[in-house]
Amino acid sequence: MAQIIAGNWKMNGTAAGLGGYADALKAAPGHAALVVCPPFLFLPALAAALAGTKIAVGGQDCHASASGAHTGDVSAIMLKEIGAAYVILGHSERRADHGESNATVNGKVKAAIAAGLVPIVCVGETEQERDAGEAEDVVRTQLTHSLPDSFSGLVAYEPVWAIGTGRTPSEADVAAMHGAIRAALVARFPAAIPILYGGSVKPGNAAALLALPEVGGALVGGASLNAADFLAIAAAAPSD
Ligand code: PEP
Repeated sequence: MAQIIAGNWKMNGTAAGLGGYADALKAAPGHAALVVCPPFLFLPALAAALAGTKIAVGGQDCHASASGAHTGDVSAIMLKEIGAAYVILGHSERRADHGESNATVNGKVKAAIAAGLVPIVCVGETEQERDAGEAEDVVRTQLTHSLPDSFSGLVAYEPVWAIGTGRTPSEADVAAMHGAIRAALVARFPAAIPILYGGSVKPGNAAALLALPEVGGALVGGASLNAADFLAIAAAAPSD
């Protein structure tokens, strides 16, 4: 299966920069499947700019309800309607900034699947939890409660302390965590669920991270803002 390289722009980017970014991505050959998740406002234009290519776009969040009195929110159905194929859910910044619990994430995942989106569900421990030897237990608990029984989609392992810091876990720690996540997923779901690694993935460390067992791609924050860096990460993905 081709690896999936997903870019999370967070609250970055400009409308003026979308065309150039899309053109740079379109020009690149490659065997990895690319997904770009810009802020909501930029999604329709980016989806239009990438229409007819294999590069998908996704949201960074959605509401659990289809519609209603939820000021400032966006539904999974709306994302689907404007051409998104994916949605990132349960990112640690959403969990921290917006108090999203595993139960909240679970409801959003169900809504995403019902709307025909592929959810990318983020899990990961804090540094304190890792230092206390609790990392795998924390992640298993997040998986248990964030993923509904009907789950299909992707899981992204993103240690909170590695996001935006330039620090990454050792290759052995990434491999161990991905193995633990795989065991938890296999015990519960019949379908093969790709597990992405996220947290300070850069062109310089991508090849080593993407070659690890049970790593099915990457969720890339800061480095996805620069098309050349994003493409260099994608180029580092092993071919099938
Ligand atoms: C992220 O936001 O999902 C992320 C992994 O960020 P960064 O690559 O900047 O660490």
